Amino acid sequence: MSQAVVALDVGGTGMKCALVRPDGTVHHEERHPTRAERGPAAVTENILEIAESLAGKARADGLTPVAAGIAVPGVVDEVTGVAVWSSNVGFRDVPLRDLARQRLGMPAALGHDVRVGALAEARLGAGRGRRHVLFVAIGTGIAAGLVVDGSGYSGAHGAAGELGHVVVRPGGTPCGCGLRGCLEAETSAKSIGRKYAELSGEPGATAFDVATRAAAGEELARKVWQDAVEALADGLLTAQALYDVGVIVLGGGLAEAGDDLLQPVRAALAQRVTFHRPPEIVRAELGDTAGCLGAALLALDTLEEAQ
Ligand SMILES: [Zn+2]
Repeated sequence: MSQAVVALDVGGTGMKCALVRPDGTVHHEERHPTRAERGPAAVTENILEIAESLAGKARADGLTPVAAGIAVPGVVDEVTGVAVWSSNVGFRDVPLRDLARQRLGMPAALGHDVRVGALAEARLGAGRGRRHVLFVAIGTGIAAGLVVDGSGYSGAHGAAGELGHVVVRPGGTPCGCGLRGCLEAETSAKSIGRKYAELSGEPGATAFDVATRAAAGEELARKVWQDAVEALADGLLTAQALYDVGVIVLGGGLAEAGDDLLQPVRAALAQRVTFHRPPEIVRAELGDTAGCLGAALLALDTLEEAQ
């Protein structure tokens, strides 16, 4: 009988869930609201219920559910399977992996949403065939995942990849983390929209508006966009000095701007490189399903390790 893994990507507002075959193809997809306002215990119970129901769906479709993978935001200890801390879902030391194992009666894995997204882009998406891949997700926040030879790097405390909190503009815009001038405070989709809104006096302007208007030649939008691009290039240069990757994959909402983002970022990075070997900079291919596919890959890896 064919096998499938249960995969969930839990975000601050929604959960992307799927049944994925061992070759990475998706058999079934569904989405649910996270409803984080109900508190971490209720969210945890909801995750387990959805995972159980997906396993049931697999069986009903003639597939054998063999493992589960769950991706969550925040600080995630992949080794112990604990969701250590999350500002937007509210997790504090939730042993999600073991809870899923017990509830489902099958092997389970827990991963960090952006780091498993990196895994998916590296193995199935824009980083296919490359040995050293850095995935940078730029949305409300900014985070990165380093993948070497198909394996993700999570750090000693489950907190690797916080590229968003590399200071690129000392003394600059205050960041939610307590520092000033973090990459995230200068270049996230949220901060681009906010800066433009402040300068234009037009409340509610988004990064998408800024990208569109900059492309149409509007002076203020071009300036805000270019400032963000320059800050991003500074952050990526630091990342390249540290990791020397072959390819940087840009994902998240801001990457929807496509060449309006990629081309100026490539140019700004090219201006900055000195001793560095410049990486290729490409757009992510898997969109917002990267986290869910990555959770599935983590589940499949767990099975391989058990054999
Ligand atoms: Zn910060």
